[in-house]
Amino acid sequence: MTIQTIPAGALQTNCYLLIDESSRRCAAIDPGGEGERIAAVIDRLGLELARIFLTHGHFDHVEGVPALLRRWPEAEVYLSREDFGQPLPGRSRDQRLYPVWSLIEGGGDWTEVNWYGEGDTLLMDGLTVSVLSTPGHTEGSVTLLCGDAMFAGDTLFAGSCGRCDMEGGDVRQMAASLKRLGLLEGDYTVYPGHGDASTLSEERRSNHYMRQAMRL
Ligand SMILES: [Zn+2]
Repeated sequence: MTIQTIPAGALQTNCYLLIDESSRRCAAIDPGGEGERIAAVIDRLGLELARIFLTHGHFDHVEGVPALLRRWPEAEVYLSREDFGQPLPGRSRDQRLYPVWSLIEGGGDWTEVNWYGEGDTLLMDGLTVSVLSTPGHTEGSVTLLCGDAMFAGDTLFAGSCGRCDMEGGDVRQMAASLKRLGLLEGDYTVYPGHGDASTLSEERRSNHYMRQAMRL
């Protein structure tokens, strides 16, 4: 397994390429913008894109998807159903914040999405990705584990955590999610949705939000 980090889009969201060396296929986690530039990087590395994993449905984590699907139409996209952004009876959704439903409804290169969530295990060639539901930043936020790598989306950042004050956010759920991650056995390299990578052991030691949550 090799991991390549490509910050992209207006908010410099970290897009991670999770690469299976033997098959030369990869998954893109959170292509948040500049999909054509991300596609060019994948091409330059001589890789084929097989999967797109979205840690949550916010625009700055998904807007690169259509361009990647134009280049690799067979790539399967995964998202949690809660972050689809579909307006339901009695419940609107801010389409600018959660654009996946409107991108698919609008026609174009993105026509379908696969749901994933708590307890799911996804195989891609030699790689196994486990899905943990970690709501708080959004209802449908997930954290992905692959080997000793943790893709934390906007749940856990180096020294911080994602904000909970936008539609779908919940401070209590965030605390429970941070506690859950903190209580995982062993150590992981943490690859967050924004900013520098870290390790889980360092976050358990020095991350104020995780420390607070673990006392609950
Ligand atoms: Zn977000």
